[in-house]
Amino acid sequence: MSVYRCPYCSEYVFANAQVCRFCERPLNPLAAIPQAEMETQFNSMYNEVMVLELASKSMVILAAACFFPVGIDFLIEATIAMIVGVPLGAWRVWSGIKKIKADHKEVPELRSRIRKALLIWGIMTAIFIIGMIINFLWFGMRI
Ligand SMILES: [Zn+2]
Repeated sequence: MSVYRCPYCSEYVFANAQVCRFCERPLNPLAAIPQAEMETQFNSMYNEVMVLELASKSMVILAAACFFPVGIDFLIEATIAMIVGVPLGAWRVWSGIKKIKADHKEVPELRSRIRKALLIWGIMTAIFIIGMIINFLWFGMRI
């Protein structure tokens, strides 16, 4: 059963409820349907942000591992995949949040988590590129 926030008291109520079980004001179940859908979409955005955070954090390990000579080709490929994938994912979630109503109270928190993931991504991308340039200049490494 899907839920949404009561327009009067902001508590979660069932989408088919005729009356709010908290403030007891009458609800319109028809108007509730898009609200409940928004809540479902928001939950999937929330999960995507968690994946994004995981991806940006795994870049720290991947980018660091690229500086060691073992299995380097695979690591470089994985890092490049993250360099492309993280901003694409961030853009996808960001525009998804914009599409669902922006008045959800957890939206600012989600946005700051996306920004943080992008910050890690930016730092790791810079370290990776600088590392590759140094590698190339000093060791004449092939990419
Ligand atoms: Zn209520």
